[in-house]
Amino acid sequence: MAVKILDGKIMSAEIKAEITERVAALKVQGVTPGLAVILVGNDPASEIYVRNKQIGCDETGMNGRTIRLRADISQEALEAEIDRLNRDSAVHGILVQLPLPGHLDEQAVLAKILPEKDVDGFHLINAGHMMTGTEGVVACTPKGALHMIRSTGEELAGKEAVVIGRSNIVGKPMAMLLLRENCTVTICHSRTKNLKEHTRRADILVAAVGKAGFVTADMVKPGAIVIDVGINRVDGKVRGDVDFDAVKEVAGWITPVPGGVGKMTIAMLLANTLEAAERTLRHD
Ligand code: NDP
Repeated sequence: MAVKILDGKIMSAEIKAEITERVAALKVQGVTPGLAVILVGNDPASEIYVRNKQIGCDETGMNGRTIRLRADISQEALEAEIDRLNRDSAVHGILVQLPLPGHLDEQAVLAKILPEKDVDGFHLINAGHMMTGTEGVVACTPKGALHMIRSTGEELAGKEAVVIGRSNIVGKPMAMLLLRENCTVTICHSRTKNLKEHTRRADILVAAVGKAGFVTADMVKPGAIVIDVGINRVDGKVRGDVDFDAVKEVAGWITPVPGGVGKMTIAMLLANTLEAAERTLRHD
């Protein structure tokens, strides 16, 4: 069976087209979804991510604003800025671009964001919703990855799903979403023994490791759905965690990097912001 490419460019364009329509409908009702992105310092990779988020807002008709703060800002001043955005009714989503400079307490900063404006889905309340399967904001990258997995049209219930990586922003929520789809889920990490034995059982394999080309063809079950979350810069090029050229000869479906999960992450951020704005209307 020839491999099918799960194209994040095409899928995210479809999602953004639908978001654009819903934004227009909200505007008729007097609400323009607003996303505030806080960038502390000027890390070059963060600059790119923030610019792409702003472009996404512009494309879909949302109000995107980037708030640039000095790298030496104090914890108190940063939290005061978040408080101000929490109170601003024109702002429906607040995102603090990570990582923050070392002197700042990341968890305390994220905890300051109102859970309903936490469009990244990183607040403990939203992590709790994810854990209990109740309504909350779902983290953008796993949400986008699940959309790609669903797009295969395969029955997910009962499938063996293996997630490599257990971070709070990707691995753990990804595993939880797959569990909610009734997959049998295994989470692997740096202390996992015989990793290949686990990955070769996977009907769905998600790589969120942060090591270029980490998943090789001999680790993949023939016909598997392979989702590559990794974004690694190697010699000025962006590469995923999966050895794409080799693994595509074995897999049934595969996401490319670039043009895969990364594109979906931004689409899901816009979706979360739109949903936050729509919720304010329902609560009026
Ligand atoms: P982290 O560094 O927080 O987590 C990496 C995980 O990989 C850890 O759980 C670690 O295990 C595990 N790991 C490391 N080495 C091995 C190994 N040899 N065998 C098995 N597991 C291993 O990274 P993130 O989750 O934040 O990100 C993962 C990747 O996804 C990165 O490349 C990042 O850039 C990318 N990313 C992409 C996004 C997108 O939009 N596409 C969004 C967010 C991230 P342990 O816990 O034991 O240390």
